[in-house]
Amino acid sequence: MRIDILTIFPEIFDGPFNMSMLKRAQEKGIAELHLHNIRDYSTDKQKSVDDYAFGGGAGMVMMIQPIEDVILKLKSERNYDEIIYMTPDANVWNQKMANQLSMTDNIIILCGHYKGVDQRIRDHYITREVSIGDYVLTGGELAAAVVVDSIVRLIPGVLSDETSALTDSHQDGLLSPPVYTRPSDYNGWKVPEVLLSGNTRLVEEWREDKAIELTKKIRPDLL
Ligand code: SAM
Repeated sequence: MRIDILTIFPEIFDGPFNMSMLKRAQEKGIAELHLHNIRDYSTDKQKSVDDYAFGGGAGMVMMIQPIEDVILKLKSERNYDEIIYMTPDANVWNQKMANQLSMTDNIIILCGHYKGVDQRIRDHYITREVSIGDYVLTGGELAAAVVVDSIVRLIPGVLSDETSALTDSHQDGLLSPPVYTRPSDYNGWKVPEVLLSGNTRLVEEWREDKAIELTKKIRPDLL
């Protein structure tokens, strides 16, 4: 899978893209993550990427020209399944969407700044808009990193044990049950007996019961 990210701050991705699963996915050739600095495409002498909002008011708006030029260049090179704009005024990202997107070949993710991008980019190029929650970030980069991570870890071959992703929270509409490791008794804090029993059926039943119990308690809206 190939993901092209359009941003005015590519450096923000240095950390998240060069560690853990995202690093491994790239090293294994499972995911290609490409960063494009929108500013490099500005035809303006000062390399500006933003301008005042028509109608006045506080905040600058990202201009069409440099964004359109990157998108057109990329689209001339390959077909894209989705061109995504990260924005707080959209449906909130979830595991179902991550599953869908993990099965695509090529996507573009556009990160906004300031008051956001000129609406005409959204109207004419964007195929999907994604928010990561009902709050406002300074820019789309952190949100894009969240979305990329949640997609790439689902691509077969990225996690060492693929069944792990299948038992995570939200994958089957429930929260994940609690997990424990050694020692089985830490200063009197004991691991539930059933997990030490070696009885796979009882363990599975316990995990399912706990998942339902937790979901009812913390996120009843999921049921
Ligand atoms: N004026 C916009 C609004 O009220 O909807 C907010 C602009 S925000 C300051 C700047 C950029 O950060 C946005 O264009 C978007 O790319 C990104 N951003 C902010 N919050 C986000 C969120 N919750 N999810 C996804 N992207 C977000």
